[in-house]
Order: sequence, then C-alpha cells, then structure tokens
Amino acid sequence: MIVDYHMHLRNSRGEIAHDTASVEPFVETALARGVDEIGFTEHVYYFEQTRSLWTVPYQTERCVRDLDDYCDAVLEAKRRGLPVKLALEVDYVGAEQPRLAEILDPYPWDYLVGSVHWLDGDAVDSWPGIWERHETDVVWRRYFAALGELAPFVDVLAHPDLPKIFGRRPADPAAYYPELDGVALEISTAGLRKPVGELYPDRALLGRAPITLASDAHEPHLVGEDFDQALALARSAGYETVTVFECRRARQEPLG
Ligand SMILES: [Zn+2]
Ligand SMILES: [Zn+2]
Repeated sequence: MIVDYHMHLRNSRGEIAHDTASVEPFVETALARGVDEIGFTEHVYYFEQTRSLWTVPYQTERCVRDLDDYCDAVLEAKRRGLPVKLALEVDYVGAEQPRLAEILDPYPWDYLVGSVHWLDGDAVDSWPGIWERHETDVVWRRYFAALGELAPFVDVLAHPDLPKIFGRRPADPAAYYPELDGVALEISTAGLRKPVGELYPDRALLGRAPITLASDAHEPHLVGEDFDQALALARSAGYETVTVFECRRARQEPLG
C-alpha cells in the first residue's frame, strides 16, 4: 500500500478549486505513479467557519472559502469510487486548539494533519519570518514544544521537522523532539523542493511513531513526487507498514 496523505485541491493553473472535477487529475497522477490512495488536506485557515481564530494577515486574507463546499467536493469524489480521503491541514493555535477542534468536529474527516507554520504570528517557513527575531535553538525549542501540544488534536504531524527548511539547525536537534503517542508522522517529499533540499523528517525523528507518506502537492503533477526516496527513508528506519485512515481510525497496511 502506498498513500499520499497531504495535498491541496487546486486546478491545473494552481488556483484553489474546491470542486469534484479538480480531484480527478490528482487521482490520475496518483494511479500513474503507483499511489493507491490520496488524501486532501486543505489549509484550515482558508475556511470562513474558522475566521475567528486568525490574526496573521496571510491567514485572514485567505479566509473566504466555505468548508462545506470543500467537504462536498471530496465526498462526491468518494461516492464516485475514487480512492480519496477527506482531511484538513490544521494549524497550531495554542490555547485556542480545543475551540478549533470543536469547530471541525461535526465534519466526517478521515484524518486531520497538524502543522506548526507560525509561532506567535511569526512564520517558521518563510524568510526571514521568525528567523530574524530568534536564535536557531529558540526556534527549534518553541517549534517542537508547539508540535507536542498540537499532537493530541490531530492524527498525523505534517512536515515534522519544518524548522530545518532554511538549513538552520541546532547542534543537537534531537534534544527538542517531543514524546509522541497516538499520532503518526508523515514522511514528506516537500522538503526536497525547499532550500534545505531534504525529506522531512530527519531519520533520527522516525521510529517513534507510525508513518504516512506525503507530497504536499499544490498541483496535480506533484502527487507521489519523489516517493522512491520517501520509501527508501521509511525502510531504512525499519518501517514495514504505512498508516491508513478511515473516519479518524488508523490501521497499518504493508508498505509498498
Ligand atoms: Zn504545511
Ligand atoms: Zn500542506
């Protein structure tokens, strides 16, 4: 079994397209690349139902879509028998996390992916963002503390060691890795397309939780991109299974 459990529903021009027709090119790429199942994980801050949570202009400007339209587009693709899962990329919002979870609770998610992109309004993954304000060690410590807080609210942690994106690493990254229980880690090929040019996460972070595989595709042609490298990393870390989700219940399937 091979899954790609992280992608954003866009048309061929890279524009947001929360409709069933736009699902099809993602499925076509998946099948052509031997990916058995894909999951859509739109950013949670795109949806007006979550508007009251956002403070950063990047989020508030984008918060204009309807969550029901998005869910209906993916659910209709499911009804037509396409191998797709309904999911969302859920941002870390600190003390507001239970409130965000409550807003999302009524929807029939197959899984939720959790991400830490901002810390107190400073972006971890855009330059210079948080990096002009804080030392590398401080960013890594705060990032992983936030990831640990987010973990109980989601099923998968996205791009788990995101702070390496610009190649800035503390002397001992593993000192900041959180304890993980009941959550999966994604092996993401998106890092290969970022300045760091590596898979997320480092091998040292693997082994402590089950895995999913992820491209973080924002265009259909990136589904399953570089999965040979993701599979090689998974196997080198001792994984023989991959996590499959349905209605937020996880099971393990043989990898490959
Ligand atoms: Zn992300
Ligand atoms: Zn994403």
